[in-house]
Amino acid sequence: MRPGLATLTRLSTAPLPLLVPAAVFDAFGWCASTTLDWWHPAGGIDLATPVDGTDPTRMVFVFAAGAPAGFLPRELARLHAYGLGFEDEEALAPYGIDDATDGLFGRRLPPRDVLALAADNLNALFWGLHDWAHFHNHGPLDEPAWTELQCDTAALAWIVANRAEIGLDEGRLARLHAELVALSARRFAGEGKPFDPAWMDLARVRRFVDAERAS
Ligand SMILES: [Zn+2]
Repeated sequence: MRPGLATLTRLSTAPLPLLVPAAVFDAFGWCASTTLDWWHPAGGIDLATPVDGTDPTRMVFVFAAGAPAGFLPRELARLHAYGLGFEDEEALAPYGIDDATDGLFGRRLPPRDVLALAADNLNALFWGLHDWAHFHNHGPLDEPAWTELQCDTAALAWIVANRAEIGLDEGRLARLHAELVALSARRFAGEGKPFDPAWMDLARVRRFVDAERAS
């Protein structure tokens, strides 16, 4: 890795309680999340990217040096994370998120021992954190809208918890919350199920974060 281009920030990712019906996950919290190491541009990230459910770009999970991750599909990190100085470092192939969710759980490998995130914009960071929630909470994905609601809310809470490190102001946080409510509403509508925006209430998310800080 070429020095000087990227900054490494350790994000707090304390676990959220289960917010959805228990049957949605078969191993909720099989590994308690603690922190996520995040590579990003030294000068800050692009906070304007909308979080609308489109696939994230400029984001990848980089393998930790020596990680026992030979079972996971890999590509060069620099093919997906630009301008951060990656050279020969390998990363989880973007199509391998479900492989990681299943494979880390199957081997009981703590995700933090295997993966760090590289992301240079808010949409990429959000989806990286969303995937981080999947990696710690295994489920059969039989209930996509409920599964994604839990992982979206965890990612939102982690963005709230690390707001200063991310450089996010209250206005962009409020817009992110509105984007996530709209996304979740679309998913539940697509499954013909009712949706209550209170499930993602921002004040409740802040209470989780504050309670975790106080503990
Ligand atoms: Zn997901």
